[in-house]
Amino acid sequence: MRFEVSKVLDAIEARLSTDPALVRAVVDLSEIVRYADLDGGRPASSVRLGLVVDALSRYLAEENVPVYVISPRGLLSDTDLTSNERMVIRRWADDGKVEVVPVLDDRVFEVAELLGLPVLTRTRGEQFRGRRQWIDEPGRLLAAIAGEGGTPVLVSRVGRGDPARQPERSPMGERLLTRVWSCPESNCTSFGTGADADSPFADMRTFTSPVAQPPPAVRAGAPACPRHGTKLKDAGPRPAVEVLSVRIDGVVRQRFVVSTEAPVVVGRAPEGGKGVMLGQWLTEDARKWISRGHVQFTLRTDGTLLAQDVSTNGTGIRPGGSPDDDDRLTLNRNESRPLAANDVVELYAGVNVGRSKLWATGGVVQPQSVMGEAPTMALRKFER
Ligand SMILES: [Zn+2]
Repeated sequence: MRFEVSKVLDAIEARLSTDPALVRAVVDLSEIVRYADLDGGRPASSVRLGLVVDALSRYLAEENVPVYVISPRGLLSDTDLTSNERMVIRRWADDGKVEVVPVLDDRVFEVAELLGLPVLTRTRGEQFRGRRQWIDEPGRLLAAIAGEGGTPVLVSRVGRGDPARQPERSPMGERLLTRVWSCPESNCTSFGTGADADSPFADMRTFTSPVAQPPPAVRAGAPACPRHGTKLKDAGPRPAVEVLSVRIDGVVRQRFVVSTEAPVVVGRAPEGGKGVMLGQWLTEDARKWISRGHVQFTLRTDGTLLAQDVSTNGTGIRPGGSPDDDDRLTLNRNESRPLAANDVVELYAGVNVGRSKLWATGGVVQPQSVMGEAPTMALRKFER
């Protein structure tokens, strides 16, 4: 009974991120791969990350929820995983999709505190409680356990968690994220610049964009590279960002980041595969109406968010999110308009883009799974 592990790992990969603007929870990979009770399988399996990613999607009732995954280096040579799994995790680490640290210490809890994220863990974080008082707040530690029928669910370790209430970033986190940081190690994917052109791997390596840099570690009050332990240098101000959501017929399909560095085009299938592609979620009629590139979002350095129509049929604006058609404005080709906090952009009836804060819930009961055919297999194993 083998499902296609590599397909599942590809689907999981699309959910891995260390971008502070987008991630919704943080996990220790070495803990999660050992949740054997979730599928009754081998002692360690990277596919369990998929079960937990799915559980988070259901908890938040949102599609395409990214997770910040941290792994201690030791997991890369853990022979309880298959050689293929170890190779995949190593590649994720090299690409900066997963953060690998020499020893875990309290990095998972540090990231959670700096970014204001829940930790997906079965521990109670006892050893860190002195330093991290928020651990006892409801919804900050969520344990993945087998729910009804064996389907994993997230349960708050303390009180009742409220998925709609995202915790605040710590003041230290806010401060660190106003700057771009630079690691002196030339092969640092997270805090590197790609400037080391002499390296034979220079063109093969991916570097995290300054806009999406993960939070530094804090050592003795100073920012340090979580992977190399080196002191990070301040490389200047970090570009400001605004997080927007695509919401189609009441379901949040995708969040995306607009920074002062790069405008983002949203449409049916924006040119060159860049931008936010809606095609897969649209009805026939919506596909016909919405242009390949339909509306462009730009964040100016003064904090103004602009929507500019780049379509054939025009872009609607619903001021303050008003459902009243008399309030609806239309931007014709190349017209643009600053968006107030609660304004909603309408590409077609029910196809909206707005600031992510607008929608507290993702609005979907059964988000799409990363597991492909796997859940039924896992379930059968579980019941056996
Ligand atoms: Zn580094």
